[in-house]
Amino acid sequence: MTESGAALVIPVYTLDQYAAAILRRAGGRPRSRPIGELEREIVIGRLLKERAGLGQLTALGRSADRPGVARAFAGAITEMTQAAASPEQVERTLTGGAAPAGVHADFLAVWRDYEDFLEAHGLSDGEDLYADAARALKAQGRQALGDPERVWFDQFFNVTPAEAALISAVARLVPATCVSLACTQCDDTDFVVERVRRLVEPAAVEVRVPGECGPTVAGTGASVSHSTLELSIMTAPGPAAEAREVAREVKRLIVEEGRRPWEICIASADSAEFIPALLEAFEEFGVACAAPRKRLLSSSMLVLDCVALADAAASRHSGFDLVRLLASPYIGRGPACAAQTARAIGVKGLKLTTGRWKARLRRTDECGDALALVETLAEAWSGNFGKSGGLADRAREFRGLLAAVGMPESIMAVDNRDWAVESWAAWRAFNSLLDEIARSAGDGEAGGDGGWAEFARILGSAIRRRSFPLERPDPAGVKVVGPARAAESEWPVLLLSGMAEGTFPRKMRRPWMFKEDDLERLARSGVGVMLPREHAAMERFIFNAAVGAAIDRLYITYPSSATDGSSVRRSFFVDELLDSMGISAEDERRITASISPRDVFPRRLGMAASPRELALCVLAFARAHGQAHEQAAQLMPEVREWSRQRPDLWEIASWWKDRSAQGQGPGFSVYSGAVGAPDLVDSLRTKMLLGAVWSAGHFDDYLRCPFAFFCSRVLQLGAVEEAPDEPTPLTRGGVLHDILRRFFERHLGSCLVPSKIDDYHSEMASIAREELDKVDIEAISMSGPAWEAYRSSIIAQAIRTLDAQVELACKTDGFWSPAHVEWSFGLAFRPDAAPSSVREYLILSGGLRVCGRVDRIDIGPDGALAIYDYKSGSSANLPKFNEIKEADEVQLGVYVLAVERLLASSSQPVAGAWYYSLRDNRMGSGVWREEYHDRFAAERRRGGKLSSEEWREYVDRVQASALDVAGKAAAGVFHIAPRKPSSCAWCNYRRVCQVYMLDLEALSQSAAGDGDTCTGGDCRG
Ligand code: SF4
Repeated sequence: MTESGAALVIPVYTLDQYAAAILRRAGGRPRSRPIGELEREIVIGRLLKERAGLGQLTALGRSADRPGVARAFAGAITEMTQAAASPEQVERTLTGGAAPAGVHADFLAVWRDYEDFLEAHGLSDGEDLYADAARALKAQGRQALGDPERVWFDQFFNVTPAEAALISAVARLVPATCVSLACTQCDDTDFVVERVRRLVEPAAVEVRVPGECGPTVAGTGASVSHSTLELSIMTAPGPAAEAREVAREVKRLIVEEGRRPWEICIASADSAEFIPALLEAFEEFGVACAAPRKRLLSSSMLVLDCVALADAAASRHSGFDLVRLLASPYIGRGPACAAQTARAIGVKGLKLTTGRWKARLRRTDECGDALALVETLAEAWSGNFGKSGGLADRAREFRGLLAAVGMPESIMAVDNRDWAVESWAAWRAFNSLLDEIARSAGDGEAGGDGGWAEFARILGSAIRRRSFPLERPDPAGVKVVGPARAAESEWPVLLLSGMAEGTFPRKMRRPWMFKEDDLERLARSGVGVMLPREHAAMERFIFNAAVGAAIDRLYITYPSSATDGSSVRRSFFVDELLDSMGISAEDERRITASISPRDVFPRRLGMAASPRELALCVLAFARAHGQAHEQAAQLMPEVREWSRQRPDLWEIASWWKDRSAQGQGPGFSVYSGAVGAPDLVDSLRTKMLLGAVWSAGHFDDYLRCPFAFFCSRVLQLGAVEEAPDEPTPLTRGGVLHDILRRFFERHLGSCLVPSKIDDYHSEMASIAREELDKVDIEAISMSGPAWEAYRSSIIAQAIRTLDAQVELACKTDGFWSPAHVEWSFGLAFRPDAAPSSVREYLILSGGLRVCGRVDRIDIGPDGALAIYDYKSGSSANLPKFNEIKEADEVQLGVYVLAVERLLASSSQPVAGAWYYSLRDNRMGSGVWREEYHDRFAAERRRGGKLSSEEWREYVDRVQASALDVAGKAAAGVFHIAPRKPSSCAWCNYRRVCQVYMLDLEALSQSAAGDGDTCTGGDCRG
């Protein structure tokens, strides 16, 4: 007692602290250490595996180690311990005294193994602390409690039986023990109060209804428990938009109404989408928040790189992707170095062992950093690495491996500074994950590679569930909690958010090993499991208790759609609340703000809540100014005023305005693909016309899609291919080309005859084997047997092609004999080129130079020449007769021009030019002179048959089309205009042109309007 009054110190504990204090006073100690969540799951996974290995799991069998089983068992065991149940009690209830069977037997066996493990290792599980404290009270009486006269347990309305056991034990020693509940009246209030009373007796239960005195919702005439409570409803399209609007309203309350952040609480049941989006919005809007902003470990590049290193260690004997590790700025040298290495070795995604990596990298000069990294890894993986021990040894080895590649020091490297703080936070959380995995190790666990594979799997799965904090919470900031926590206190302003059907009431999680009647039986026998109807009642109670926790203002917010755009209903609890308050539909409309998708970003400057939003607003206004001059006078002064404090924004806005004005100019749109800058057009003129050498294939590339041509031929953007699981069609086609070239080189000047077919077969097979031996199979992730099967298929295909050629020779009475194989013009000589090849270019009018290589040219007895171009695809995918004839595809036509001008004598006609499908072994499409129709056995194919006059017209058309293409490219015309949708299917530039976002039809029309339509004809996708 002092002069100014009484001084009292009332100790306040959480229930965990209180239980630990009891154990301390009782002279006992909490069991050495509580087991972690991940640790529990690993231990249970191992116990499952052991039992499965011994054949002791009757229902699960070998599926015991499937993903999710250990997690489900861990969840069910936790639920049983929260219900204060023992394995014996559960077994008695489920079996009625008989031997347990099926999945129940498996569950009970693993649960007992787990209890034994905890006992043997001195560990405790979540609820053990309460049970131990209750036991200590029973054994030692009041002395373990100190000397309290009264004990209050506040707001335990969803008390678990394990917690209740401790409260009951206290109440038996201190008669003035009570559990106080603050709640509002609802249909389920009595049920919840009765449940608490039953569980905690002999403790008394005090129920308090806050603000009982009066009844109106401001301005509506409706009533709730608080006299001046103001209710508002907000709905927005999707959880992210809802979160943004909630954050905007909170900022408004603080800035405009002078609310203190700590007076405001946001309660949401949607922790997956709403809360992360809300915390991001608070960060952007500069609102202090009492919850830490978190991010999943799997969203940290640093952590993903570490897991990639663990994966590499697990697959070090079969092959790992070194370039992936090299791309990491923490483990390797960063993306630029990785890209350089991938280009140097010509492929990415390659998986090799350290030995094979070293051999491959030593062949290439530019790979010094990659070689250094692989040598570091080889060194770290040598000796006894991964040879014995369990997860603890794997964790130790992994730490050594990380240190060898420079972690964690590399986090602070100069290049990583921008991300250092965030990466360091992720590293700390990842490190504690490694500690937990190491602690979970039991004795006698299997070692070797299985251990590393298991370790990498556990890491990969854990990082998708663990998060790391991005910044410290501000204790004086806005509270962000779940609905149950919100209901524990009173709040001047409360926002109940995420109130969508399926989110609140939350779905009840029932362990799949128990059916509903199992739960009923357990509940009837006194095991305190929660039944579905009880869960629903509890959720309704929590909702109403949370509503009752609001003092001045209550907001109910919900998303009107899901993230994928599907519509979502609001929680029926909201409807029940409005009904109970007597709010009419008209009143509801008045207090509801519906945010449309258009308004998620503010369109009025006064609504901007962050510099980013302000910038967006200013840009939008500047754009409007550029497009509508009559509005500018009204808008720009406002923009000017706002940008007075942010001159940088004004610069951006001016730039945007100029750009918008430029966009009004002819032929310009974001996606028009027209190069407009005069200096670039000048350089294109040189590059595409005067200094250019076109190949026949280049013309067709442009005709298929001018923009793809721009990327590949002008910008020369080349993607490094992924190492495929099997040879690509390109590799297959290349090998077949080489096989056929070598075969026909040996048969120049003589037509194929059926009588020699056996000799041809063995000759072809031996050439094919030799060519296949040259393939770089290291760059293909293919098993030995699969490669052998593939070899056989190529040899068989070459033989089939040969048979088809002999058959064709029969049909055409041996008219044609191969004369030139790989005949080139305008190209440097290669050893495999035909000796008749020429260095001269084909010169088109205006001096345009063209080069090319023809796969095969046959000659007839009259000197006529037939041109063949091999294609690896099926004949159905080849250009159509009409496309060739109309010069929408010009490759064959360019060959015709080249052969006529550079190879044939004046008396030698070119009889025809054909695409030959190696897949179907037939002549696909082409053009030919009508007098040679039968000589090509063209039979009913007539689409490419041309009279002499038509032939001349065709050749002229090809020339005109090629010149037109070159002219457009020189003028900078590169529309996104694929001639067929199929052109886009395998195009490497989809992500550059973003064709999937475009309305190609509209685009082709706009291109037509510019007078620059693509000559490819059908521009529609
Ligand atoms: S994806 Fe289609 S539109 Fe885009 S560049 Fe390739 S072919 Fe052209």
